[in-house]
Amino acid sequence: MLYFPPMTISNYELNLRPPFGSHSKTPGPFIVAGPCSGESRAQVLDLAKTLKESGVVSLFRCGIWKPRTRPNSFEGIGKEGLSWLKEVQDEIKLPVALEVASPKHVEESLKWGIRVLWLGARTVVNPFLVQEIANSLKGHSDITVMVKNPINTDLSLWIGALERFNQVGIQKLVAIHRGFSTMDNSLYRYPPVWRIPIDLKRIFPKLPIFCDPSHIAGKRKFVPEIAQVAINFGFDGLMIETHKTPNLAKSDSAQQLIPEDLFSLIDHLHKKNNLTLSKDAGPIENLRTKIDEIDHQLIALLSQRKKIIKDLGDEKNKQNLTIVQLERLQKMMEERVSQGDHLDLPRKYVEDIFSLIHIESVRIQQEQIGK
Ligand code: PEP
Ligand code: MN
Repeated sequence: MLYFPPMTISNYELNLRPPFGSHSKTPGPFIVAGPCSGESRAQVLDLAKTLKESGVVSLFRCGIWKPRTRPNSFEGIGKEGLSWLKEVQDEIKLPVALEVASPKHVEESLKWGIRVLWLGARTVVNPFLVQEIANSLKGHSDITVMVKNPINTDLSLWIGALERFNQVGIQKLVAIHRGFSTMDNSLYRYPPVWRIPIDLKRIFPKLPIFCDPSHIAGKRKFVPEIAQVAINFGFDGLMIETHKTPNLAKSDSAQQLIPEDLFSLIDHLHKKNNLTLSKDAGPIENLRTKIDEIDHQLIALLSQRKKIIKDLGDEKNKQNLTIVQLERLQKMMEERVSQGDHLDLPRKYVEDIFSLIHIESVRIQQEQIGK
């Protein structure tokens, strides 16, 4: 089970400025779209033109240095692509975002006028490299840096990367949730763990968070449903891989959308951009009051439980009993899960809650022994 202790806002303070200024023209989520990889000048310019004309895309994404899982696959067109991206910015007037994975990439990108850079999931796992890239951006406080989550479910590592950029003076920061690697055979390529970006937003309420449903999905048919979940959770933007002939794409061919499908996805998004309660606040506030009451009762019950656990610890201590009694634990779990079943609570949910409660009980009893 994944568990992150809650972090308090006071531990961290990012110095932030809104990242995109006037680039966002349409209400609703900020849309970043473009190919996984730039493959040819014609492909890049043709796609950028279509996306620009749609009026719904604010930023063109395009990989030219591609971190690939296996060698001998297409590793990107390299710096040859930079002049195409300059044309996208200068001729088509669509701002460009580029993935960088080294100070050299940063240098080349800045030379060609790219103002928005992003770090991929494989780069973010390496604090040495993140620091080197951050150092190469010293004195470029006008640059926006988007940081994808690392491939593993480590919120601190993600925060650490954001902090490294912030500490060298980058204030225009965006976090991007692109899902996590998993050992399980899952429906999605990199399953999302929504609690992690939501915790990030709780810690840094002013940090914009985007979702990359393309890399989460791995298959284009799942992209719209993931995009909708992100919007429901209040994400500020979406980064969606787009290609005119995805089946011929040299990387991530199964997950890229044709522009028409991208536009239809955006049209059909049930946009939830009311961040604060308005005139219809009454019913929501009533329901929230009820939830608050239940939560207060839950906390009070947990505190009562804790007192009993302490006595239990003393008693086990007197009788020289081991803290964990496997048979009792097994029975207790089965009983709780079955009660949950009857009350329409998912098994996994009840199991997760009680395994947390049990870990805390063991900790308290261990503490009692020490006294
Ligand atoms: C990409 O955006 O094409 C990419 C390589 O993404 P990630 O770092 O999320 O794997
Ligand atoms: Mn990709």
